[in-house]
Amino acid sequence: MLIFKKVADLQHWLDTERRAGKTVGFAPTMGALHDGHLSLVLAAKQEGDLAVTSIFVNPTQFNDPKDLEKYPRMPEKDIALLLGAGCDALFMPPVEEVYPPGLELTVQLDFRQLDQVMEGVFRPGHFKGMATVVKRLLDIVQPHRLYMGQKDFQQLTIVRDMIRQFNSPIQLVMCPTTREPDGLAMSSRNLRLSPEMRLAAPAIYRTLLEARDRFQHEPATAVQASALRQLETAGLKPEYFDIVDGISLLPVEHQNESNFIVACVAAWAGEVRLIDNLVLKEGLR
Ligand code: AMP
Repeated sequence: MLIFKKVADLQHWLDTERRAGKTVGFAPTMGALHDGHLSLVLAAKQEGDLAVTSIFVNPTQFNDPKDLEKYPRMPEKDIALLLGAGCDALFMPPVEEVYPPGLELTVQLDFRQLDQVMEGVFRPGHFKGMATVVKRLLDIVQPHRLYMGQKDFQQLTIVRDMIRQFNSPIQLVMCPTTREPDGLAMSSRNLRLSPEMRLAAPAIYRTLLEARDRFQHEPATAVQASALRQLETAGLKPEYFDIVDGISLLPVEHQNESNFIVACVAAWAGEVRLIDNLVLKEGLR
């Protein structure tokens, strides 16, 4: 696996590979890698010639400086995991390679309600920072396919919208959420859970599963109310539990209102904020 720190070096290698007819799949990450991240790399290898991963803890998407500071960093372990997954190239740039001084790179797109609801309410500015770094990384790597996890469903929805707005030919591939055996969605943040909160956290997935069942015969507001109670009973502090259309992210009250319905949740497990989601209905899109 090649490791690049400089944009110019990565691009030089990518140019050669693309000229040789190779297709490039790209999975951007913030490191502290787990099987969820590796599933993106494996998918990229399966569907194309080269898998490129980036590790960059993007300062502009953290609205809470403490969260940025506490974000786990373990580059040696990450490199070993990527080697094992068959990753071809890793891009690990310093901040000034991604944001060269004097260049204004902030994405100024209007995402309408997409970045205003759910995470947008609780993490102001987060999606602007996320869109900016994803756009910058896509401009650098210019992959054929971009691999992202369903785990961050709203993020993926906004990136889909960004790709559409820029008329970009990049194909966005959504990879299913990888979970621990007890159902907890894998996340770099899980490393920070206390033993007590690690035991409580799988209630998030159980609540989502129960919501999927209840939503067959109950309206969303009733399902949401019982889900929030269930999370609180488990010792978690939910911020939202929303049932939304999977494309517009607008609230859905009844099954028949959309073909693609997703329940999205954010909850604090002690000091750690966790998110998860589950598709409640997936019909023809
Ligand atoms: P992050 O390092 O948290 O920014 O995540 C990088 C990419 O990995 C994003 O596309 C995430 O959606 C994806 N990802 C994170 N956790 C999981 C998971 N448990 N299963 C699948 N994909 C994931």
